[in-house]
Formats: sequence, structure tokens, C-alpha cells
Amino acid sequence: MNQSGKIYLVMGVSGSGKTTIGQLLASQLHIDFFDGDDFHSVSNIEKMKSGQPLDDHDRHDWLKNINTLASKTLAANTSAVIACSALKKQYREIISANLKESIIWIYLHGSKELIQQRMAARQNHYMPVALLQSQFDILEIPNESIKIDISLDPQTMVNTILQETYKTTLGIVGLGVMGKSLARNWARAGVKLSLYNRFVKGVEEQVAEKTIQAYPELEKASGFEDLPSFIHSLAKPRIIFMMIKAGKETDRFIDEMLPHLDAGDILIDGGNSHYEDTKNRIAFLEKKQIHFIGTGVSGGEKGALYGPSIMPSGSYEAYQKIEHLLYAIAAKDKNGNPCAAYIGPEGSGHFVKMIHNGIEYAEMQLIAETYAYLRYVQGLDPFAIAQVFDAWNQGDLHSYLLESTVQILQKKEGESYLIDLILDVAGNKGTGNWATIAASELGIPAGMITGALFARYVSTIKESIRHIKQASITNIHSTQLSIDTIKSAYTAARIINHQQGFLIIKAASLEFNWNLDLSNIARIWTNGCIIRSRLMEKMIPAFHDHYELFEYPEFQEESLRLKPELKSFCISALEFDLSIPCFTASLDYLNSLSGMYSTANIIQAQRDFFGAHTYQKMNDASGAFYHTEW
Ligand code: NDP
Repeated sequence: MNQSGKIYLVMGVSGSGKTTIGQLLASQLHIDFFDGDDFHSVSNIEKMKSGQPLDDHDRHDWLKNINTLASKTLAANTSAVIACSALKKQYREIISANLKESIIWIYLHGSKELIQQRMAARQNHYMPVALLQSQFDILEIPNESIKIDISLDPQTMVNTILQETYKTTLGIVGLGVMGKSLARNWARAGVKLSLYNRFVKGVEEQVAEKTIQAYPELEKASGFEDLPSFIHSLAKPRIIFMMIKAGKETDRFIDEMLPHLDAGDILIDGGNSHYEDTKNRIAFLEKKQIHFIGTGVSGGEKGALYGPSIMPSGSYEAYQKIEHLLYAIAAKDKNGNPCAAYIGPEGSGHFVKMIHNGIEYAEMQLIAETYAYLRYVQGLDPFAIAQVFDAWNQGDLHSYLLESTVQILQKKEGESYLIDLILDVAGNKGTGNWATIAASELGIPAGMITGALFARYVSTIKESIRHIKQASITNIHSTQLSIDTIKSAYTAARIINHQQGFLIIKAASLEFNWNLDLSNIARIWTNGCIIRSRLMEKMIPAFHDHYELFEYPEFQEESLRLKPELKSFCISALEFDLSIPCFTASLDYLNSLSGMYSTANIIQAQRDFFGAHTYQKMNDASGAFYHTEW
């Protein structure tokens, strides 16, 4: 089906002027006009002439005829104006089946008195004035339409329709690193854009205009720094994608926009917002009949520019209206499907993005710890380590993060490796912290994410770290491991990291009734996002049949098979006084799961000792709780 044509569907009750306005619009656009009434069956017309209202059964074939007319028009790569009352939402759904993006609804509205007067003056029409009330009774006013006041003169009405029709499809707020790149991506996909960046005198002036001038692909976009003009430049229902600082700034900005928005408008927050904030914003805006979609976006600046992974959540109805826009810019998986999918209700999209970032923290930390071993124990220089990582990256360990690290390690500044010139302090913007808190609140052991987060915190207390580093150098008394052993340890730890991360998502899905599809989440993370990897590809089928990675024999067996190497790596690294919180957390997870040398019974006894918290007994089928006077 060719999507370049448009159907202008002029709707409203009988007597509202659909034919007059439709014909005038068609003549100005130089396209055909069709009166929907001509597509009624003879029996429908007879019924109306005899003063009986049509029922939905009578209307069904008629509406399907109009859908066929619209489909044929679009298939012929042309546009047309069709006049049709289309009073109920369900009628409009029949007319627009499979054509949603190509139909522009134009709703002619006016008072019953005015319409009655016009109908009374009309001759040669089969709709008696008496039937008008029945039309008003069933009318469901469409949210997504251009609403035109019929008390205006016809030419003004048509001018307004044309003005509204040629408005912009998508508004983007915030032209920082991410917003600017997403805008360029959408512009390349042919989406008509309005761009807005706030105005701060002397600091942020004409940002949108300057951005448009800097990138040729944005030449058709319109730039704004005046919020009302930006909002009014958008076609209704307005779709506004925010890519600004998360937190209170986002709330403040929503408040600023609110007076200029209308029912049915859709706000999308692509920033790294907390999932509970998203849930609250959805509920708050729902009361004002404004849709709010919170979406995770991953891929950094390059991803935003060439294809990010996108994780939207909120009302499914609203999502359906923006899906085509997300698909237009998302990365593609290996089957060519977009790495964007509806995640679930409430703030589930931002939750999933938060855990994505948690997994990312641990993936980065594992690479850093492996690097530390190769550098300080094996004595390899950054270039040699890049070669080791590059070789791993050619096989099953392939990942975007490993690939990036190869490039990082090869980069020189003058005679020095750039990595050696970078201050040894790691920053964070909060999502690792939130992921750790969420895991803890949901009761999921996510020691690797926590370890990676705390490693960043430790790096900030650098003076004491330097001191310990100096002291530890003399303590070397272990044998070095082979590269293959290190590779196996890294392979095992990565599986455990993904097991822990996805377990948090599973727990949230159950706790909040989100019904999340883990396999599809893994799929949209196979490209565009920062944690894309070959391992992620392998996880798609695993999550089809199972809700946990470790329920899938291949993953559980592989991590257990590689456990000896993981253990050797941890022992050796610790003997060399390396800090390896993520590797030790992964090994500890396997040890704890095996339950061979459990310590929980001691804890339970201690709890009962000082707090009378009771305990259960082994092999006690009754499940009874006991308390001992210790
Ligand atoms: P930048 O700092 O580059 O840009 C931030 C944007 O937000 C700027 O346009 C800024 O406007 C605007 N802004 C800040 N405060 C306000 C405010 N009070 N009112 C209106 N606009 C405001 O950040 P990024 O583009 O990197 O990130 C944007 C969002 O995307 C953040 O939520 C971030 O967490 C998230 N994100 C970032 C990723 C990344 O890799 N960088 C990846 C995925 C998500 P001004 O120019 O006037 O300061």
C-alpha cells in the first residue's frame, strides 16, 4: 500500500456542511471528492427516507465500502476528500482499518439550532430534520481530528483545514546531545519536525535555529524558543518528545506546557526518568486527558543518530499512535525488525531502561577488572590488551562495550596511551543507584550491579585508594593465568550478570502486574543499545520458554562448567591485591546458589535469639514456625 497519499475525511452530523466544505477543499487541493452517502445501499436510503434511523448493522457494509474506496485511492498513489458522518468511534475504526496514518479527520462542529436552520432550508435531501437529534445522540467527538467551527464562512473553514494539515508531525524539546541526534535521525526518516530548546538570556539563545543551521538534514524543520508558538506549530493530536534533564526539571517543563495542550495530545519523555515518576506523571496527566508515554532510549549519541533501542510504556492506545514514529528511527534487529517495542503499562519502560543501565554498569566493570588483571598481573600494555579483547570480540563474547574498549585502549595522545592520562575516577548519573535500590526493594540479589556501582563510588575517594595501591605492590606471590582461563572467567561472569539483571525485571513484572515479555526485551537489546551483544541474541530463545536465564539448561550448565576458571581468576586477582567486586560477586552468586555451605540457618537462629523472629525446621513437612528460649 502506498502511504504517500492522504484521505481527508470530512465528518459531522447531517447538515453540518460536509459536502460543501469537502468539495471546496478537494477543488483547492486538486483532488477528487466523494460523498460517502453515495456508497449507501438502496435499502439504507429507503429506510432513511421513511424516517427510520439506521442501525449499526445497516451501517457496517456502508462503512466498509468507504474503507475500500479510501484503500483504492491510496493504492493508486492519490489523495481524495471523502464526506461521511462517521459519528461513532467504532465507525471511524471500520473506515480507517489498516489506513490509520493516511487519514486526516476533519470534524465540522456547530450548534444543533444552526444545523436545524440549515437543514430546513435544504431541498432534495433524504435526511429529515427529525433525525438530527438521533445523530447528536450517538455522536462521539473525535479527539484526533482537526475541529472546524461551522459558523465560519466556507473559505475560512477550508483555509483553517489547510493550515492545520500542513502543521508539523512531531515536536522535540531539548536539543542537547540526545535530542539533537534524535531530531537528525527523524528528519532523515522524512518526519516533519518542530524543534524547541529553552531560552536562557546570554546563555542559551536561538539554540533550535542554530541547530537547524548546523545540520543540512534539518533544513525543513522549524525552530522555536517560544513555547506557545512551538506547541501551536504541531498538528493535533500533538506529539511532543522531551529529551531533557530528568527529575524536577521534567515536571516543571510539563507544567509550563500544560496551559497550551489539549485533550488527546501525547507527551513522550525520553529522558532517564525514574519509573515511579513516570507512573505518577501518567496518572496526573490522564486526569487532564493528556497521554504520557515514558520511554527508555539507549544507544548514546551515536545510537540516537543512527538507530537507538527504544523502550516505551504507558497507555497502549497512545503508544499505537506513536509506534510508527519510533519504528522510523529505531535500530533494526538481525531480522530487520525495529529495536523498539511496547514494554508495558505505567513506568515499565523506564524501569527496564534502568535495569539495562544496571547490567551496563556491571558489564563495564567486568571489562575494567579483566583489563586490570591483564595490565597489572600479566604486564600487558594497552595495545596488547586491545588485541586480546579484539580476538575475544570476534567470537561469542562479541559486544558493543568490548568493541568500544578495544578502540579506547588503542588511542594515543602523543607518546602516551590516552587511557593512562585519564583521571581514575568514575562518574555516574543515578540509574545504577536506582537499579540497586529497586533490586533491593524487590528482594533480588544483584550483587554484580551493586558491586559495579560501589566500585565507582570507591573510585571517588581517590586519595586513600592511591595510598593502598602503593602498599599492595609488594604482595605478589601467585602464578599468572592463561588468557583462555581469563576468557572463561569473563564468559561465566557475564552470564551471571544477565541472570541477575533479568531477574530484577521478572520480579518487577510480577510485583506490579506488568506482564513483561523478557524475550522481546532481549530482542530490542540486540541492537542500538549499549549492552547489545552476541550473548543477548542467545537469550531471546531462552526467554521464549523460560522466565529465568538459569532455568534454561544451556546457560546454567555453561556458568557451572566455567566456574573453576572463574574461581581461579578470583583467587589469582585477589592474591595480586586487585579489586574485582564484580567477578567476586559473580562467583559468590554461584556459591550461594549451590547451597552446599549455607549460612542462612545461623542468621535465622540469631534472629530468633535476639528478636524471637522464629525459624522453620529442615524436613518438617508441616512448615511450622518454632521459637527457642536460647
Ligand atoms: P544534555 O545535557 O546534552 O541536554 C539536556 C537538554 O535538556 C538540553 O537541551 C537542556 O537545555 C535541556 N534542559 C535542561 N534543563 C531544562 C529545563 N529545566 N527546562 C527545559 N530544558 C532543560 O543531556 P542529554 O541530551 O545527554 O540527555 C537528555 C536526557 O536524555 C537526560 O534525561 C538523560 O539522562 C537522557 N539520556 C541520555 C543519554 C546519553 O547517552 N547522553 C542516553 C539516554 C538517555 P539547555 O541546552 O538550555 O541547557
